[in-house]
Amino acid sequence: MKSYLKPGSRIVVKVGSSSLRHGATGRLDLYKLEVLVRQLANLRNAGLDVVLVSSGAMMAGRTALGIDSLRTLSQKQAAASVGQARLMMIYSKLFSEYNTVASQVLMTKNTVADPEHKQNARNTFEELLAMGVIPIVNENDTVSTYEIQFGDNDTLSAVVSELVQADLLVLLSDIDGLFTSDPNTDPEAKLVREVLEVDESLLGMAGDSASDVGTGGMRTKLQAARMAMDAGTDMMIANGRDFRVIHDLVSGKGTGTWFRAPEENRRKRDSSIERECRG
Ligand code: GLU
Repeated sequence: MKSYLKPGSRIVVKVGSSSLRHGATGRLDLYKLEVLVRQLANLRNAGLDVVLVSSGAMMAGRTALGIDSLRTLSQKQAAASVGQARLMMIYSKLFSEYNTVASQVLMTKNTVADPEHKQNARNTFEELLAMGVIPIVNENDTVSTYEIQFGDNDTLSAVVSELVQADLLVLLSDIDGLFTSDPNTDPEAKLVREVLEVDESLLGMAGDSASDVGTGGMRTKLQAARMAMDAGTDMMIANGRDFRVIHDLVSGKGTGTWFRAPEENRRKRDSSIERECRG
């Protein structure tokens, strides 16, 4: 098993809204947030570069405002505006308890569609990581409309992994990984442990399964895997029910589905990093 637990490794961790809330009330699970932050601060202490892609803005805004369901786009955007600030306040506070600095990066599709913006975002990430900061990324839900939105944070996390040329992307959600069929309806469904290529038959296997909160289903996760693997980044889908699993996953252990980037893509990524280092 390949371990990424070494100084200089670059890890992107994506957590979905469903992994950040109490199932019964829909409110933020502060205990889980605390465990998440402790895990990430510890990876940083071990010398890794860490980026967190966190959902939860709309969920936190909705509960802060006491609104049960968000109907219109502007309601969703207003809730995200309230919730994103709350979420960052909590993350900043928790990270500072571990003597770690966190920052906020909000992105839309435009950030990467325009080469100048893309380079700018890349430079900022590089600078933040060189400063030892843990950037916390989300979609800029407050301003992003259909044309400029990623739509889900699975895609966003793959885009971020490509931008920072990460070694590993960890997607933590309310599912154990990719199954041969829907485990909710088929008792014979088996967990797929390793994927070397995301082809059409695999995408077909994923169907349109989605979790009940957040916007990404298995199909978007596989599309994210394809993007990550193209960029030479390995990816892992695992269950975020207990964030203490992060340490195991980064050590190359833990249960879930591994997506291994082809050797050739990894070499391409490594040589472009070397080129950039030489300036
Ligand atoms: N950006 C959204 C939020 O923070 C979540 C999108 C997603 O879960 O995929 O509320």
